[in-house]
Amino acid sequence: MTIAIDIDEVLSELLSKVLEHYNSLYNTNLTQDKCLSYRWQEHFGIDLRRTLDIYQDFINSGKLKELAVVPGAVEGIKKIRDKHKLVIVTSRGACLKNDTEYWLDKHFPNYFNDIHYLREGLYDSMKKSKFQTCQEINSDFFIEDDVDHLNEFRDNKTKVLVYDHPWNQSFETTDNFSRVHSWAQIVNIINS
Ligand SMILES: [Mg+2]
Repeated sequence: MTIAIDIDEVLSELLSKVLEHYNSLYNTNLTQDKCLSYRWQEHFGIDLRRTLDIYQDFINSGKLKELAVVPGAVEGIKKIRDKHKLVIVTSRGACLKNDTEYWLDKHFPNYFNDIHYLREGLYDSMKKSKFQTCQEINSDFFIEDDVDHLNEFRDNKTKVLVYDHPWNQSFETTDNFSRVHSWAQIVNIINS
């Protein structure tokens, strides 16, 4: 089977590190358990453009290369990579290719068959949706946490595994969706 996999908050812990960065800049105390959406600008109380400026600053400081791995992700990927084709589908820009591949090589060396970056620059909009990309690569499964992308998969044949986080609690898992709380659970579903 072909398994499409998001990076941020499914393989990597991005938001917690970005909040740490934001807190140190603005002397605030934001925590991700209070983030009930994945639109960072709502937590920062600023517009998207300024939010991306902060993200750019975070990237410039080299922190994207230092993200922690979601617990169990390395072990989980190791258990499915021999039997299935694993494809990264990320809304990260191709401008982040170096940092992204440095991080993937460090934690998941040669574990993925392909990587799709769905925008060019950090400030650009997506050139293609995750849904379209999954259709094109004919993925059997897609693992994702962001409600904005999940919504595109309503009434579709791709089986979507919703990686449980505070910001997707309101997402209703019907039909082709299953909520998962760990990589062990993902492995069980894919291998069953
Ligand atoms: Mg994500």
